[in-house]
Amino acid sequence: MSSKLPFIPSISDYSDIRKMMEEDLAYRKRERKFKTSLGRPLYYRINIQIITTQECPYSCPFCIERMNPMSGNNNFPEQLRSLEKVLEEHPSARLTITGGEPTLYPEHIMDIEKMYISKSENTFSSINTAGYNLSFPYKSKINLSYNDFVHESPVEGCTLQTVLPDQSMRLEYLKKFMEQHASVERFSFRYLSDLIRHDYDISILNELRSDPEIEVCTFRVGDFFMYVTFNWKGKHARITLGDMYQQRSNDDEDGYSNIIIHPDGRVGVNWK
Ligand code: SF4
Repeated sequence: MSSKLPFIPSISDYSDIRKMMEEDLAYRKRERKFKTSLGRPLYYRINIQIITTQECPYSCPFCIERMNPMSGNNNFPEQLRSLEKVLEEHPSARLTITGGEPTLYPEHIMDIEKMYISKSENTFSSINTAGYNLSFPYKSKINLSYNDFVHESPVEGCTLQTVLPDQSMRLEYLKKFMEQHASVERFSFRYLSDLIRHDYDISILNELRSDPEIEVCTFRVGDFFMYVTFNWKGKHARITLGDMYQQRSNDDEDGYSNIIIHPDGRVGVNWK
């Protein structure tokens, strides 16, 4: 399993997914030879996450950002220098501007966007936000977090994203959520993950496969993630599972599958 599929294959439980993740990593370690100053990129198109700040005015109890190692105080000039350097080696990278709450610092977001547009192929950039300050003319796609603790009104063109415990990651719940947000066309449902759990209920995959109303677009398993995208009644949705335990216990050797720019500008790979 090292490619995108336009259907969901038969999967009995999460151990099948883990096996696919291991196979994907083994394939990439075998096939990817190209090196950068950071090591060996395991994917042609790498994701860069720029963690602008650890600050956030909200306090979601499941906040994975707060569980993950991020280093230092905000150093915006250093973040920009690091971004420029990373883009020199990864001009086709996708960029996620995240936090904490990045819109605490709108001017900095716009500086990041300016650099991304001028120094890369401008493949795709997005902002992960709880909607603290969306009154600026950002150029990136808005991923608006929505849950019991943060629930700003969706803005036009945004993707509404929510984190769900396994028991809610069921098609009936997802449909209800999409119906409740009639004005929104794009949704992102993420499995609630943490640094130690390593098993997930993936019944949703079989539900998607057998529901005649659902049009599956893409199914993909990578070195520590799985995602599926689908259409339903004119809406587009993505389900993502990022297995942090798997990522942290993978033996990547000198390979990496994502780049993190920390608040102080330090560049790390593989969520470190
Ligand atoms: S809004 Fe995001 S960064 Fe802030 S506490 Fe919630 S999950 Fe964490």
